[in-house]
Parts: sequence; structure tokens; C-alpha cells
Amino acid sequence: MGEFDLIARYFKRPVRRAALGVGDDCALLQPKANTQMAISSDMLVQGRHFFADTDPRALGHKALAVNLSDLAACGAQPLAFTLALALPHVDEAWLAAFSQGLLALADAHGCELIGGDTTAGPLNICITVFGEVPVLAGRSLALLRSGAQADDDLYVSGTLGDARLALEGLQGKLAIPQELLARAQQRLQQPTPRVALGLALRGVASAAIDVSDGLLGDLRHLLQASGVGATVEADVATSLIAASAYSIRATGDFYLDLTATQWRTLALAGGDDYELLFTAPARLREAVAGAARHSQTAVTRIGHIEAEPGLRLIDRFGQSLPNSYASFDHFA
Ligand code: ADP
Ligand code: MG
Repeated sequence: MGEFDLIARYFKRPVRRAALGVGDDCALLQPKANTQMAISSDMLVQGRHFFADTDPRALGHKALAVNLSDLAACGAQPLAFTLALALPHVDEAWLAAFSQGLLALADAHGCELIGGDTTAGPLNICITVFGEVPVLAGRSLALLRSGAQADDDLYVSGTLGDARLALEGLQGKLAIPQELLARAQQRLQQPTPRVALGLALRGVASAAIDVSDGLLGDLRHLLQASGVGATVEADVATSLIAASAYSIRATGDFYLDLTATQWRTLALAGGDDYELLFTAPARLREAVAGAARHSQTAVTRIGHIEAEPGLRLIDRFGQSLPNSYASFDHFA
């Protein structure tokens, strides 16, 4: 099977909203009046972002999920994406499963594949997503990293740390009971992009970022962009590890004996969570709760923003904790 048959077979589909899809030199998108386009790219490299034997269906899901997560963090409605793919060889079973995982998530979000590039080479998947944000009375409703203000509340969606727990288990660094590993692995390999929450937070959140490299590392980006500081309740964040909740009800299948510092490290610096970390003024607590309900996404208040720059961590007794939780950096 050649390059063009491969594209036609696995990636070419009838266009729906785009003006032109796969098959010409460019795809065409027709922006609506009073909207901005939100655009983001993420690349997944074998050996760096995923193991060679990763289930291709899960990989297709994750490659798009991490991109949709960026649109979610901006409060953008997904529209379309392109797929640049390097493949070592044509493996039809792999391509069928990969494209099914990818396109199932795409369909769930009404985000269509409009083009890309296909080449031979070490397995590498690069997606660019295009989303839409309304502009009202000349003001964009996009959520940015730079809008946090002193005294805002700090929230995170969903659960934290489980993806990292699975990674440690798969790498053989932690001995994790099989049942627990299977659940945590789901979070690592098939993260849920919080698109509906991002949309519901337009006009409510003052700033947002998605958690890809670890909670505190990504929080630092938001604080720097906003020129503020924050205090984070470390034990509240740590309680959001789904595995810790199972482990407390522990019987043999789920029991995991980690130190308090290990649990905190998973939650605060784990990475690969693809949750939304965002701020909102305290007077909008009801609106935040409404956005959580409307999007059927759990949201937890984990701290607050302060004028004093820097990141402070406190435990459940309000005692300060040393802040030595490093997040992931490809070149550090
Ligand atoms: P060009 O040589 O003009 O860059 P290509 O021959 O690379 O075009 O691709 C032919 C068409 O197939 C283009 O419309 C391109 O967007 C699309 N395409 C290529 N690879 C993919 C892919 N992996 N998924 C979706 N569309 C693709
Ligand atoms: Mg090309």
C-alpha cells in the first residue's frame, strides 16, 4: 500500500464544516464573523511520549486528546485538525486501530481531520488543532494564562497523579497491584480532554492552563504570565489521586504503600494529567460550581492567588511544606 492509498483508506473522510478537506494542497476553513481561531500543535514521539508497544487505538485517542486539552484551556470550541505522521512501515492492523481511536474522539468533539502529511520514518505523530473563540463587543472570550488576580480562587478539574503512577508502574519503578495499574493506565493512555469545562468557564475563569507537565510546574507558568503568586493546599491536591482513594479502602488488589511525600509528588508533579488548572474571583464560586455541573466535570478548589510572587505550599494543618516538586522538562 502506497502513501496515497494509505491516506485515502485511513484518514480521508467526507468534509462536514470545513470548506475543503483532505485531497488538495491546502484545506480551507471559513472563520465565522466575530470569532478568533485558537491553534495549537502537540507532537508525540515514540520512546519519549509513549512505549513502542502502546495500544494503537489508545495512541490515536491520546494524540488528539492532548491537543484538544490545549483548546479546552483556552475555552475554544474544537473545529478541525491536521495530522502529520511518520511511520516506520505500513502496518494495516496498526493503522486501522490508530485511526479508529483518533477519529472516534474527533467525532465525539465534532472536530474534523482536514489534512496532514505522511512520511516514512521513526514513529512520530504531530497534530495541529483549530478551534473557535467568540469575540463579543471587540473582546475575545479566550481564556489565557495571564488573567489571574490577587485573591482569586485556584481550582483544578478531575483527578491528579494517576497517569504518573501508571508510568512508574510500567517502567518498573513502583510495584503496583495489577487492578490498580489497569485503572491508572487508563488515565495515562486515554486522558479525557476537558473541552466542555473550558467552554463553560468562558466569562467565569480569570486565567487557565492545562496540566501536562505537572500541577506545580504548569501553575508556575500561569503565575508568571499573570505576575502573581499562590498558596496551594498540597493535601487537597493529593486527595485528588484516584488511586489514593482506592488504596485507602485497601484490600489486596488495590493496596499501595507510599509515603506522604510520594503521594504528594504524584499529585503535584506527576504530569500527563490533562486537567484544567484555572483561577476565578471568589465572588464567582457559584458560577464555577455551575460550570462544573453543566460540563459534568468535578472541580476542586486547591488554593488561592496572592499579590506576592512565588509558590507556597501548605499541608492540611496550614503548615508550610518545602516546595521541591519539580515538573517534567524535556531538556532539564
Ligand atoms: P502535498 O504534497 O501537496 O503536501 P500530500 O501529497 O502530502 O500533499 O498529501 C495529499 C493530501 O492528503 C493533502 O490534502 C494532505 O493534507 C492529505 N494528507 C496527507 N497525510 C495525511 C494524514 N496523515 N491525514 C490526513 N490527511 C493527510
Ligand atoms: Mg506532503
